[in-house]
Formats: sequence, C-alpha cells, structure tokens
Amino acid sequence: MTKIEKGDLVNSGKAKSLYKTSDPDLYILHYRDDTSAFDGEKKESLEGKGKTNNKFNAFIMQELEKQGVATHFNELLSETDSLVKKLKMIPVECVVRNIAAGSICKRLGLKEGLELNPPTFEFFYKDDDLHDPMINDFHIISFKWATENEITQMKEKTFQVNEILKRLFANAGMILVDYKLEFGSYKGDLLLGDEFTPDGCRVWDSETREKLDKDRFRQDLGDVVESYKLIAERLGIT
Ligand code: ADP
Ligand code: UDP
Repeated sequence: MTKIEKGDLVNSGKAKSLYKTSDPDLYILHYRDDTSAFDGEKKESLEGKGKTNNKFNAFIMQELEKQGVATHFNELLSETDSLVKKLKMIPVECVVRNIAAGSICKRLGLKEGLELNPPTFEFFYKDDDLHDPMINDFHIISFKWATENEITQMKEKTFQVNEILKRLFANAGMILVDYKLEFGSYKGDLLLGDEFTPDGCRVWDSETREKLDKDRFRQDLGDVVESYKLIAERLGIT
C-alpha cells in the first residue's frame, strides 16, 4: 500500500468525506457509516457500512477497469479509505433502470417491478436543496455543466457499466434493478467517479425478489448492513 498522508478535508457529503493528499492529483475518499435517504431527511449511522462499502466499491471499480471502463479508483488504503484521482465532477447523476422502482414509479405511475426493455436512462441535477430534479441534455448544455461530447460519453459509459454489472449480479443470483453513476474529468479524460455500492443501486434476489440494497433503509426493512454484506459475499468480495 502507498504511504500517503491524509491532508485537509475538501468536503464532507452525506456518506463520504474527501481529503487532499500530498499529491495534488489525488484525493482520499473516506467512507463513513452515515446513511441518508430522501435528500438527507432520513439519517442514521449504520455500524460497519463504511468498511463494507469501501471494499465493495473497490471490487466493482476494479472489475469495471478490467472490462475497459476508466475510473478514478487507484487503491485501497485502509478499511474505510480509498485513494482516488481528483476529478472535476460533473454535477449530474446518471441513472440506468432495468426494472421500474423508486422515483420513476411515482413520476410515471408505474408498478414496481415492470421490466424496462430496453433499459431507460435519466439525468438528475445534483442539488439536495432542489431534491435532485430530473433534467435533460439541453439543461446540461445551457448551464454548461458538461459538453455535448461528455454527455455522449456519460450515456455510453453508463450503459457499458450496465452490461458488465447486470451479468456480474445475474451470475451471483441477483438482479441489478437500477443504479446511479457520477462522472468527472481528469487531465482531459472523462472518468467514472464517486462510488458503486448498495447505497446507490437497487439489487434484488433473483428468486425471491427480496430487496437487498438501500431500500432496506428507506423502507425500514432492517438488516441493512447485513444485506450489503450478503450481496458482497455472493459476488465473492472477501
Ligand atoms: P453526497 O452527499 O454529495 O451525495 P457523498 O457523501 O457521497 O456525497 O460525498 C462524496 C462527494 O465527493 C460527492 O460530492 C462526489 O461528487 C464527490 N467525489 C466523488 N469522487 C470524487 C473524485 N474522485 N474527485 C472529486 N470529487 C469526488
Ligand atoms: N440514487 C443515488 N443517489 C441519489 C438518487 C438516486 O444513489 O441521490 C440511486 C438510487 O439508489 C437508485 C437509483 O439511483 O438505485 C434511482 O433512484 P430513484 O430516482 O429511483 O430515486 P429514489 O427513489 O432512490 O430516491
């Protein structure tokens, strides 16, 4: 492991904190136990979630890298910390949905569980005060949040991730229902940033359709971290 000192705090989000390092191109992403939903209205600290998600994310990012998706992930530094490339984040969330659940059901009056074939894609503006409103490509261009080329790349990469991860989860007896990705630029390249963990995706058991992701927290189903660990175990994350 790299000997790298944690520098000043850059920002503290709802679940992670970002620190400077001695290398101006690198940050430390620290995974906390803090868990939130509904734009921060529901909050709790869930023991062990930080460690679980840090390891989970490292596994997924490495798997994506192996299959040609460039990410910000450099290496695991400790149980709760990862070394990542410092990105200039694009303030939008890219969501792909294979099955209807969550906000799309409310918005379009869909029954949870409806298969979306082909999968659908949505952009949201990252702003808790505004409740992360859904936006389209034109908003992104008008407000100069990203270029046309970056928009194309975000869509392509998000769908590429879908092909890789749908298979990975299916092979482990799970359905990847939907997920959120964030991207940022690094020395002229667009890289996948932030995290891919059960905090930011929906995963169901293939047989029983039991919810194994953050919906367990949102809907007070209990055993949240235990369930994240179960997903990790099934994927072979040790
Ligand atoms: P939030 O409350 O914004 O959802 P988190 O608690 O997940 O956020 O904090 C992580 C923050 O760090 C987010 O704002 C995310 O966009 C940002 N971030 C993630 N990866 C990187 C990176 N490699 N470089 C710069 N910022 C990043
Ligand atoms: N998501 C996320 N962060 C957000 C909003 C959504 O990680 O700020 C994830 C969420 O966990 C789900 C997917 O993106 O896997 C789609 O979320 P949705 O729009 O259904 O919103 P939700 O009902 O989860 O608020």
